[in-house]
Amino acid sequence: MTLICVPIFVNDPESALADATEARDRGADLVEFRIDGFYSGRDDENEVPAVLRLVARCPLPCIVTCRPVLEGGQYDGPDDARVSLYERLGTAQTAAGVEHPPTYLDVELATYARSENIRQKINLAVDHPGQVRDVSTGLVLSSHDFQTRPEDLFRRINRMVAEPACRVAKVAYRARSLRDNLELLDILAEARAAGKAMIALGMGPYGVPSRVLAPKFEAFLTFATLRAEAATAPGQPTIDELLQLYRFRSIGPSTRVYGVIGHPVEHSISPAVHNAGFEAVGHDGVYLFLPIQPEFEQFKATLLSLIDHPSFDLCGCSVTIPHKEHLLRLALEQYEEGDGRWHTDNLARVCGAANTLVIRRDRSGRAERIDVLNTDGPAAAAALELALGDLRSHRVVVLGAGGTARAVAASVLERGGQVVIINRTPDRAARLADELRAHFAPAASLLTAPLSDLPDLRPNAVFNCTAVGMTGGPGPGQSPVPDELLGALPRHSVIADSVYSPLTTPLLASARQISLQTIDGLALFVGQAALQFQAWTDRPAPRGLFTQVAREILESRAAQAGQ
Ligand code: NAP
Repeated sequence: MTLICVPIFVNDPESALADATEARDRGADLVEFRIDGFYSGRDDENEVPAVLRLVARCPLPCIVTCRPVLEGGQYDGPDDARVSLYERLGTAQTAAGVEHPPTYLDVELATYARSENIRQKINLAVDHPGQVRDVSTGLVLSSHDFQTRPEDLFRRINRMVAEPACRVAKVAYRARSLRDNLELLDILAEARAAGKAMIALGMGPYGVPSRVLAPKFEAFLTFATLRAEAATAPGQPTIDELLQLYRFRSIGPSTRVYGVIGHPVEHSISPAVHNAGFEAVGHDGVYLFLPIQPEFEQFKATLLSLIDHPSFDLCGCSVTIPHKEHLLRLALEQYEEGDGRWHTDNLARVCGAANTLVIRRDRSGRAERIDVLNTDGPAAAAALELALGDLRSHRVVVLGAGGTARAVAASVLERGGQVVIINRTPDRAARLADELRAHFAPAASLLTAPLSDLPDLRPNAVFNCTAVGMTGGPGPGQSPVPDELLGALPRHSVIADSVYSPLTTPLLASARQISLQTIDGLALFVGQAALQFQAWTDRPAPRGLFTQVAREILESRAAQAGQ
């Protein structure tokens, strides 16, 4: 079982103990006392007994670490003092009558390798095959790089793994892209096969998958902080995120991996929604944030590596800005190059963009079929059908001429409805209409119009596909339809908004005020997520749960922003 370790930066021992108790109560298996901010190595009479007491009173097994400045810590005292402290801790039972020596001592490989004298002293304090003393503390040998992947990574790992006194080998470096996770996870798998306990972690936002997927690759432990601001390395999730959002305890070797690809992606509500869904239907999957740099070449190289890795088990992705067009381009490119595993749906091709990736794997784990779909359009059409019935007899006005407008318009046309496109830039609306006509002849059901014509069009539905009204978007607090035009619409008109932040946009608020039926952006979000979920799991999505989870997050964010 992969343990959850909460790192605690010790400034004063009493609050460190309180944090250790909280860590236990929140579900941690052990804590790491980072004593390098407390232990100076210059006041051993007071500092050493305080550290011994802290370890003895800790309610969980613990690692003690006194990280020097050179490896990203705060200790700048003499090495001798630090090594003597390790000796005192490892032999605590006999030396100080204390009940519990630390379960582990973490010593950097660089320190351990520095001299025979240091190695001998540390080896006296830890349990290993050649140990004759009655000591139980295990040695974690560690290596860190906060900037990048060390060039001599494998030399370091081999050195740690080969060291008889090393009970656990730990390597952590700043992940440069998602691809570094694959190397880290391979390192775990190899160590596992060789029977060595290993920790391999990517630091920073690109390294989070290595932290969450640690149990899939049977790592010795992963770190999780009590509070977001208490991280001792960039990218550490909180223990609540690990246990509740990612359902860490249910991740194992057979767990399938999903995620949302975008840049930026950290504000996505999809991980909360899909992970809750997997839990509800008992699907063995975990859904991650998968940030990929904005360029197509980065997207292509990263996604192909993730798909083709033999044991990462990537089985599906949601894809958002700026990679929706990239996904379709990649799928067409791969197919044209002769990779017959790639398939695209008609709507994705019409839209030139896709938001969903479905990867089916054979028994050996190889990706045997890769589907690229657009679920935004079908979700919008389904929401309209729920309100209006069969779309064939209905006219839908689409506001906007961007990617969402294209998907919504194409899906309504696919279902035989009429579409009128209204856009701030009329030329763009005309271009979109021409392109859609090429796919959906005859032309009669597709028009463009100026906004002032809206009441005369007598639409059954108006679908806002611009970002107007969105928090942080163009014209926050504004409606894309002036109130006087809205008031002149037929009473049966349905007003739909693709914007879900805020949940009640100015457009929807005005429509409700005059008792028009409305569809909010959350319905569209839940609809497209539900179609993805079904494609990945072959089970219907728990839509009520999706709505509840998404609503809770959006409402809490709005409350925090004082909206
Ligand atoms: P996009 O491709 O950038 O298109 C934006 C459209 O909005 C363009 O037609 C643009 O008109 C128009 N626009 C921008 N600022 C405007 C303003 N101040 N006044 C009038 N029109 C303006 O964006 P998109 O990807 O289609 O996304 C549109 C919205 O849909 C976003 O808010 C997005 O969050 C939302 N969305 C929601 C979901 C969901 O699940 N609920 C899914 C997908 C998208 P011009 O052509 O004149 O520039």
